[in-house]
Amino acid sequence: MSEAKLVSPPVSEAAASTAPLDGLAACMQAAAGCGKCRLGATRRNMVFGEGDPHAALMFIGEGPGADEDQQGRPFVGKAGQLLDKMIVAMGYAREEVYIANIVKCRPPGNRNPEPDEAAACIGFLHAQIAAVSPRAIVLLGAVAARFLLQRQEGITRLRGNWTEYNGIPVMPTYHPSFLLRQESAKRDAWSDLKQVMAYLGKPLPVRR
Ligand code: SF4
Repeated sequence: MSEAKLVSPPVSEAAASTAPLDGLAACMQAAAGCGKCRLGATRRNMVFGEGDPHAALMFIGEGPGADEDQQGRPFVGKAGQLLDKMIVAMGYAREEVYIANIVKCRPPGNRNPEPDEAAACIGFLHAQIAAVSPRAIVLLGAVAARFLLQRQEGITRLRGNWTEYNGIPVMPTYHPSFLLRQESAKRDAWSDLKQVMAYLGKPLPVRR
């Protein structure tokens, strides 16, 4: 958890920073003691999310796995390492984006969150998005799309097509865990990320 970012905004950003910082800090405090669903009883650590509270780009996955539960940070296992590479390939440092999940506590055995668990937790994510107010969101996998956007289609159908959440452009793409199992899908994922880069004005790699 990049707590320093939550409590110590750069001085030059002071006035503009207070709203997202206050919003995120209050939200994190509420989630820290949360027992609104059964996942709170089995978690080791609540995994709130982390990153730049003013990030232009936000990544949203489905929920913490074992490594994340252990460390209290999102996307720190093998899938997280791949996500880091994806972020760097887009021209960002991990610290420059904001990373969160649908549920803040690990579903046992890395199962998908149940609808009632997602419903209990989604308010935290709504508050995080409102506080960060990113210019674009990348949704990682079908589960994230189902619970944030109420989209029931598979990720193969959803990916690569812009949609929106409260006026914020959203690009669904494959979850890094899937990409680790299905190397051939990386090309499509990169194509999705390049659309996001173009939207955010990031230079696209020149083909040689
Ligand atoms: S998953 Fe969300 S709603 Fe459930 S206990 Fe954890 S923080 Fe609370």
